[in-house]
Amino acid sequence: MKLLITDLDNTLYDWVTYFANSFRAMVKDLALTLDVEEETLLDEFKAVHQHYGNSEHPFAMFELPSVRRRFPDSSREQLYSDLKSSIAAFRAGREEHLRLYAGVSDTLRAISEGGTIIVAHTEAVAIHAYYRLLKLDILKYFKHIYALEGHFEPHPNPARAAELVPPVGLIETISRNKRKPNPELLKEICRSEGVRLADACYVGDSLSRDVSMAKSAKVMAVWARYGTSYEGSLWDILVRVTHWTDEDVTREAELRNLYADTQPDFTIDSFVELLDVIGLRGSYERSALPDQAA
Ligand SMILES: [Mg+2]
Repeated sequence: MKLLITDLDNTLYDWVTYFANSFRAMVKDLALTLDVEEETLLDEFKAVHQHYGNSEHPFAMFELPSVRRRFPDSSREQLYSDLKSSIAAFRAGREEHLRLYAGVSDTLRAISEGGTIIVAHTEAVAIHAYYRLLKLDILKYFKHIYALEGHFEPHPNPARAAELVPPVGLIETISRNKRKPNPELLKEICRSEGVRLADACYVGDSLSRDVSMAKSAKVMAVWARYGTSYEGSLWDILVRVTHWTDEDVTREAELRNLYADTQPDFTIDSFVELLDVIGLRGSYERSALPDQAA
């Protein structure tokens, strides 16, 4: 195996649990700060997310009508201060919940040391993908991050904005009309990494988006089944504020139907099992350290 292409969210870490918890904490705090009903804020967040076609729009709260009414004259820099307790609530949620699944870091290291190129392919916006890999201390294992282009203003704190610039050449931007499952895109990734399809492996948590795409491209398809288990109520929070339009919801249902019978080449219940799949178990056992991620 010469190339591992890995999905990020709910394959390396539980994005649903992290984002839903952090978002919920932020909205609760914001409701108190503004003295506005949470439901009103959720409606407003949904509208902003739909406007940008992204449920992870940075500092979406600055654009909520309730915030603009309360702080009509504040610049972005000023809002960053006005709303610092809500921003802090989100960050506290992130500190608590953004965690690698067990064994991810050791497994990536073993794969990388075994000489396999590792790249990420995600439908998160590039800057978010970059930040999470950096924060989780696994960025060093990735040659490239294939991620969606994003259009938004820089971080309101200039010092922070400067820290969040990815190294030149790391990010390979994907245009928004090339959504998963897109086997041609996967073939392009293999081509640009200089690896034959038969020497590549794709791992992801979504049968309809990740596994089906890999199968169509004739790349080894590994289903990270563990990524689908999270609390249903957390998913409901995300759906409540999703940027998805009715058309997107219909497309998702169609995809699920279309790919309901998709059979992965391998199913794993822990990221560590990837080492068996790509034949590196021995090297993992030699180099394994106590798991920091569990
Ligand atoms: Mg995923």
